[in-house]
Amino acid sequence: MKADIHPKTFETNITCSTCGTVWPTHSTRQGLRVDICANCHPFYTGEQRIVDTAGQVDRFMRRLQSSQNQQAAAARRREEQNKPAPKKPSLLREIYGEETE
Ligand SMILES: [Zn+2]
Repeated sequence: MKADIHPKTFETNITCSTCGTVWPTHSTRQGLRVDICANCHPFYTGEQRIVDTAGQVDRFMRRLQSSQNQQAAAARRREEQNKPAPKKPSLLREIYGEETE
């Protein structure tokens, strides 16, 4: 190894913040943390699960819900506008009354 050109390396641990797995490694940084690792990622576990560390799924579901509510309200409004106006009684009928036979 040539002197004074290599970065300083440490023996450190990588910690998974989801499942808490710790494994040793060598790195130029100390105290490494990862959000997800091969022990808990659904791709490796084969488990059907949504990994949601930042609340993205919740946010999406909230947006979807509000969008569906808006669409339903718009459909209701459209239906009310398209409803035929109540029939006015005929002027003749108003004047001469109901024809009775
Ligand atoms: Zn993990």
